[in-house]
Amino acid sequence: MGNPLRDRCLPSEMAEKSQVIEISNKISDFERLEAVVASELSVLEADKLPQCWRESLVTGRLTFSYGSTHNSVPALEGNLVVTIDAVCQRCLEPFRLLLETKLRVLLGAAGQSPGEHDGYEWWELADHTVRPIDIVDEALVMAMPLSAMHGTADGCSEIGSHATDAADAVETVTPFAALKMQLQDRGK
Ligand SMILES: [Zn+2]
Repeated sequence: MGNPLRDRCLPSEMAEKSQVIEISNKISDFERLEAVVASELSVLEADKLPQCWRESLVTGRLTFSYGSTHNSVPALEGNLVVTIDAVCQRCLEPFRLLLETKLRVLLGAAGQSPGEHDGYEWWELADHTVRPIDIVDEALVMAMPLSAMHGTADGCSEIGSHATDAADAVETVTPFAALKMQLQDRGK
């Protein structure tokens, strides 16, 4: 029995059988997400570092299909939810951040991309195959806010907000922000 999330697959075959993939995997299963969260948390003193942040579960459900508007191109759609540990850019304290994202991707060969994607991202297949986990990993990284913050300034730690000027915090470019910008450029 293979692992449909990790195994390399042919999207056309998956779409033929309307393959569904249930996801319930730890952050540590997603290489890039883990690296990005680790880099965000690296600014924390050791005593503030959340324990077990890699254990947090990514859950969701993905479905392969031939999309209604792109009949010849396999599509992968679904929802992803995970609560990650992040660092508030306003008060520089750790907090838990709920990430929810929808994934809508068309999977095609280089040069096959239809001009209009109707809200789908385009995922270029290297050799006709893909590992669904790579798409999920990238979708989660892209869903992370460039500048994570407590919902309101009231949620911020007093000591932290006292020590940090809010205007400066907004300007802070974390290593992750730079990575995300690179990814977005690459996706163009
Ligand atoms: Zn805060």
